[in-house]
Amino acid sequence: MVEPTGNILQVRNLSVEFKARKRVIKALRDVSLDVPTGKIVGVVGESGCGKSTLILAIMRLLAPNAAITGGEVHFGGRDLLKVPEADMQSLRGTDISMIFQDPLTSLNPVVSIGRQLIDVQYRDRSSLDSKRQRAIQALSQVGIPDPAARMDAYPHEFSGGMRQRIAIAMTIIEEPRLLIADEPTTALDATLEVQIIHELKELQRRYQCSILFVSHHLGVVADLCDYVIVMYAGEVVEQGSVRDLFHDVRHPYTEKLMECDPARIVRSTERSFPTIPGDLPDLVDLPSGCIFGARCHRALQQCAAEAPDTRTVAPGHAVACHLY
Ligand code: SF4
Repeated sequence: MVEPTGNILQVRNLSVEFKARKRVIKALRDVSLDVPTGKIVGVVGESGCGKSTLILAIMRLLAPNAAITGGEVHFGGRDLLKVPEADMQSLRGTDISMIFQDPLTSLNPVVSIGRQLIDVQYRDRSSLDSKRQRAIQALSQVGIPDPAARMDAYPHEFSGGMRQRIAIAMTIIEEPRLLIADEPTTALDATLEVQIIHELKELQRRYQCSILFVSHHLGVVADLCDYVIVMYAGEVVEQGSVRDLFHDVRHPYTEKLMECDPARIVRSTERSFPTIPGDLPDLVDLPSGCIFGARCHRALQQCAAEAPDTRTVAPGHAVACHLY
């Protein structure tokens, strides 16, 4: 179903706080983004930039010490932040599915993979045999060889890459409209990473689903995604099409992220990989002015005093920086 807006997911001004020992961590602040129907959107940024908090807030799976303090999350014409928990439970796994970084978090180690693939279809009233056939078909679609014979095997009998494929099979079995992938290739080696990316592209093409893909690896995002959202310390600092981001980068933080991406380091070096100098700001006591100010190599005088607004620098390409 194509949404009236052309976007399957619209996040507007989403803010999340965590309470820890009388301190309030302002983890997300006014995050807005769109996932167009049938497209793949990548969210990138260093560890601690709020990527995982963002997707857990969308799924309403935040820890008990977290609070959504503002914003809207529109999916299928409804604000997910306002739907009753029972409705949210039925959306998860059917309309919206998630792939986690570690497949062992989504697979039960003491239950055969076939049983798990049948169990996830518990809402479906079809016969056991037809659920079994769907499970075998899902395994085949993610490239598990001889799937019917592997139905009785347990997760530990598969390699890491195969386990991630099985976890993907579990998420696609109900043909969700939106797939949220949280660093699904981070725990895999480079060869398996390429295979999983190929698998995700193929699944997106086959089911025409939309994907929100979270990663700290720009090369993977460039390969897989149509659009990119760059996050820093809980804020969106730049967003646009993959072409905009990789050929016309604007925000100083995105520039630095690209310089540090292993796939883009052209000169061999005996020293460690380059990193962005400085640390993430304190999210309890936020600095005044631009959130990236203390680490920015292009800072202006006004940057320390005034937070930049988000400006459109080209159609579909927006940046939060005083340089524009
Ligand atoms: Fe750098 Fe200023 Fe732009 Fe922030 S607003 S990224 S400090 S130039």
